[in-house]
Amino acid sequence: MSLVDYPGKVALTVFTSSCNFNCAYCQNKTLKRQVIEELSEETVIDYLDRRRALIDAIVITGGEPTLRVGELIPFIGHLRERIPGKLVKLDTNGWNPALLARLMECIDFVAMDLKSLDYSLFSDVSIETIRKSLDLVKAFREHEIRITLYPPYIKREDFGELAELCRGASRIAVQQYRRIDGNDQEPYKSGILEEFSGVLSRISGAQIVLRE
Ligand code: SF4
Repeated sequence: MSLVDYPGKVALTVFTSSCNFNCAYCQNKTLKRQVIEELSEETVIDYLDRRRALIDAIVITGGEPTLRVGELIPFIGHLRERIPGKLVKLDTNGWNPALLARLMECIDFVAMDLKSLDYSLFSDVSIETIRKSLDLVKAFREHEIRITLYPPYIKREDFGELAELCRGASRIAVQQYRRIDGNDQEPYKSGILEEFSGVLSRISGAQIVLRE
């Protein structure tokens, strides 16, 4: 149950396992790997259905949900049938623009991470693919681009170019990177977050949400 995963709504969050990125600050390390013991779709939908009176929305996150190429859209369809009237949000790392395009008809809100100008640091996805996904995300009626300020990925000299990539978005969440065990990287000072938020606001025209 979450009050923060869907802006302004009470949501239940469904986590899918495995991810094709290897971000140095990942908070979901166990979900990065494929989980061997799977829950059936029926088990998940039953769980959500029993709590339907408590929630406004269902958030599907990961790991990376769009790795479930053949399962994701049918799952959302079954959710809509069994638990009608709930909003559905999807979180993605943006690696799969083809699936994002198909999701436009089935979900209410999409949130995508913009992690760097150099995706080779943690994935084999190109910045051109990410650019395509960002353009699709901006076409969703409700969307959010999320940027975690991990200094090795988000460099100060890149602030302007990152803001250009976000031009036309309606909402951008700028969040502080949180340390995890085994990573001694110092976070940026809060003044740098404010500086970046100012650049984003000026260039992209989006509403900026700062999460420190
Ligand atoms: S994309 Fe998300 S889940 Fe995947 S490694 Fe990065 S932070 Fe972790």
